[in-house]
Amino acid sequence: MVSTISYNDDNYAYAITNSRGSLLFDCGDSDAIVDVLHEKKITPDVLYLSHFHRDHAGGVEKLRECFPEIIVISPKSSIQEIGAAEDRFGVTVIATPGHTVDHCCFYIPEERALISGDTLFAGGCGRCFSGEFLLFADSLKRLAQLPAETKIYPGHEYLASNYRFLKAMNELSPLYEQRLADELHPSVGIEIGAELLLNQLFRSAAQGDFDEFIRLRKMKDQF
Ligand SMILES: [Zn+2]
Repeated sequence: MVSTISYNDDNYAYAITNSRGSLLFDCGDSDAIVDVLHEKKITPDVLYLSHFHRDHAGGVEKLRECFPEIIVISPKSSIQEIGAAEDRFGVTVIATPGHTVDHCCFYIPEERALISGDTLFAGGCGRCFSGEFLLFADSLKRLAQLPAETKIYPGHEYLASNYRFLKAMNELSPLYEQRLADELHPSVGIEIGAELLLNQLFRSAAQGDFDEFIRLRKMKDQF
């Protein structure tokens, strides 16, 4: 099961405890995250970092003080370290350059879960800080090939703003509307199949229409 941990204004970290151990994904604010881990009596075996922006990785040193044994897997880890962690924890690291050049997403087949960091959001995608729009589109295209029932666990709660943009583009998104009204964490757990229908940015990249993806991404930057 994937537990959602909210911190800052709109960040999400995630914890998974299964037969392989306790896994944590991103750690931008160690205080908030350690509180939740203590409350749930979780001792994380491994921390996966999607990228090095402060709101995702700024809490690592303090987390290590609380859990000195923790293994940290990040975009800077070696192939050997990533491979050993994959064998042990069942997490596939997917390089998804775009938001940053070294961004990674994490696919956990046993949980049917994709931890998508700042690459894929409900109703949108991250800003292209790397300037590599084609690489970003290709990263999204590869994520779109995961099984349609894979649930997406993004790094931020941005659905309300993404929904406003899609509405302005005349995209009808009743599922988003419903989730915004009903859910505590409206962005968390939407399936890839649904995103491909509703999320115009993700869809254009998935279809290989990279020009359209770039047009929309640049338009969203100004929105
Ligand atoms: Zn970021």
